[in-house]
Amino acid sequence: MRGLMMNQPLSITSLIRYAAQYHANTEIVSRTVEGSIHRYNYGAAYARIRQLAHALGELGVAPGDRIATLAWNGYRHFELYFAISGVGAVCHTVNPRLFPPQIEYILNHAEDKYVFADLTFIPLLEQLAPRLKAKGYVVMTERERMPTATLPNLICYEELIADRPTTYDWPMLDEWTASSLCYTSGTTGNPKGVLYSHRSTILHTFSINQADSLALTARDSVMPVVPLFHVNAWGIPYAATMAGSKLVFPGPHLDPVSLYDLIEQEQVTMTAGVPTIWLKLLEYLDQTGKRFSSLERLLSGGSAVPISMISAFEEKHGTRVCHAWGMTELSPVGTCGTFKAAQLKLPDEVRYRYQASQGRAVFGVELKIVDVNGDELPHDGRAFGDLLVRGPWVTSAYFENEEATKAAFDSDGWFRTGDVVSIDPEGWVRIVDRTKDLIKSGGEWISSIDLENAAVGHPDVLEAAAIAIPHPTWQERPLLIVVAKPGARLNREEMLGYLRTKVASWWVPDDVVFVPELPHTATGKLLKSKLREQFRDYKLKSA
Ligand code: AMP
Repeated sequence: MRGLMMNQPLSITSLIRYAAQYHANTEIVSRTVEGSIHRYNYGAAYARIRQLAHALGELGVAPGDRIATLAWNGYRHFELYFAISGVGAVCHTVNPRLFPPQIEYILNHAEDKYVFADLTFIPLLEQLAPRLKAKGYVVMTERERMPTATLPNLICYEELIADRPTTYDWPMLDEWTASSLCYTSGTTGNPKGVLYSHRSTILHTFSINQADSLALTARDSVMPVVPLFHVNAWGIPYAATMAGSKLVFPGPHLDPVSLYDLIEQEQVTMTAGVPTIWLKLLEYLDQTGKRFSSLERLLSGGSAVPISMISAFEEKHGTRVCHAWGMTELSPVGTCGTFKAAQLKLPDEVRYRYQASQGRAVFGVELKIVDVNGDELPHDGRAFGDLLVRGPWVTSAYFENEEATKAAFDSDGWFRTGDVVSIDPEGWVRIVDRTKDLIKSGGEWISSIDLENAAVGHPDVLEAAAIAIPHPTWQERPLLIVVAKPGARLNREEMLGYLRTKVASWWVPDDVVFVPELPHTATGKLLKSKLREQFRDYKLKSA
């Protein structure tokens, strides 16, 4: 027997419609590419989104067409999210920090019909355009700032939407309709496309807005530092519209001074981004003695969070750190260390350990760990193996990529994450490593992530990476590569002495190298493949 409830498809349009109806005066604040502040509200944004929907129709955008964006976090990018998906097309956010040949590959693989771009990226597009399939390019600016670029079919965003009706008859889309597309920033091989649907997006939005997850409310002022081109800014534009939260977009200005000023000026209560951003911000606060007056909580994800970062935010600034794990393939949130973990009545040391773990599965995402034969391992907090997941907002295939799809799923359809984790009996997940980053010493595994986190706990360390170096006796031994804080006088002996008090003796790296900076991927993760290449011939002192 079927239930008798309405068949109302889940749709992204319903989010902005709701925000405009019930939170019309709630502000959306953007720092523009030029540095000025733009302010409007959900009511005004929705009017422009409907004008943009008309404009897309006039450009000949049809259901299913992919429309690319190359843009920072700002109000026009936000408008594109809702207008493109709302008309039944696919909002394809492209990461402009990728290498140009990768961007070219992505735009052509997705067969993007139009590219909407911030002024910053016009020179890049001019370089690529002769080899791109796109029909035209829209510059996300006003008439006066239009560049004299050589791009074919160059259109001004403000002119495109000006004078169009502010009402629009949205199509009733099947909830399985594709809504957005994001390519993973893999460190090897060509990027792979993950194609989200209206249904997966809305279910993910409900999930991340639960009380023990992001928990956005209409009283929050939310600043996604995580880019709109990285897994839909972790779903925050959708979660904020569902909750009616004020949105604050930092544009391209992600340095600590700009972020701190914006947080204070807009009384941001919640922000989200990768640990590198927060470590730099902490350093700035330490140097200047500045404190937050409004920032209650901070979501950190994308890479492991060192305990020292969690304790510094809490103890010095009263800001609770929530640590989440996710992937482009998971929309992205899979596990979340609840903000409440920060309030657990446990000794700080124990509590911080929970917070530094990757948290527990959010409702809807199932987890299992398997050994090399694919046999399931117990959730006892000790066994670790490959993490596989499934759920309604986990990808079921890569976009137009059979080969990658074949490799990514087990015979029961679970998605292989490529992360190696342990799960304790209460469900707390701890990432041991990426499969390929583990260090195998004398037949035992050393977690490069744990070593890096321990190293960053030293007050003079800004960032650290641990990689495996071949060793005649032990197969592999860890090399620690460190970026010291400016002015610090840290040396090899002191670093190793410190680590001897933090990790098992056989984990202590065999060597330490100091470098001015570490290579990162386009989404801010350590680029271990580059480090491995750079240190391929490195001779460990112990070898
Ligand atoms: P991406 O698809 O670019 O978001 O990258 C996903 C990968 O980032 C995951 O498979 C993990 O290896 C890593 N990652 C994401 N969140 C965390 C986290 N909280 N701690 C450690 N690694 C993480």
